[in-house]
Amino acid sequence: MFYVRWKMGDTRRCRVFPPLTPEHPAYAMKCLYCHYELGGGFGGSTKPEAVQLIAVALVDPDSDALVKFAAGRVCNVGAVLLHERCVLQMTDKQLEEFVGELVHVPGQTQDAT
Ligand SMILES: [Zn+2]
Repeated sequence: MFYVRWKMGDTRRCRVFPPLTPEHPAYAMKCLYCHYELGGGFGGSTKPEAVQLIAVALVDPDSDALVKFAAGRVCNVGAVLLHERCVLQMTDKQLEEFVGELVHVPGQTQDAT
């Protein structure tokens, strides 16, 4: 799990990182949008892609963070890493829907459906 500093109403599109190196812990993780490895390219291409963090949800709903979050203050929230190119495929509305699916099945990918 990744974390970003985020507050309600901010864009979910957070930091963009250069293509991951094989040493990076997320290199072999799957992009939740295209289901190909983050260290590889979009659509299974071998050309590495930039990746982007997307703010998803609060990590611990019982923590103090929830109070800060509800008050519209910045706090640490869970984030997912996707290929930047995959993020760019989605409009803001589609991104909200995509994130909504992730929130409803904490700890799982949307493969569960
Ligand atoms: Zn992808």
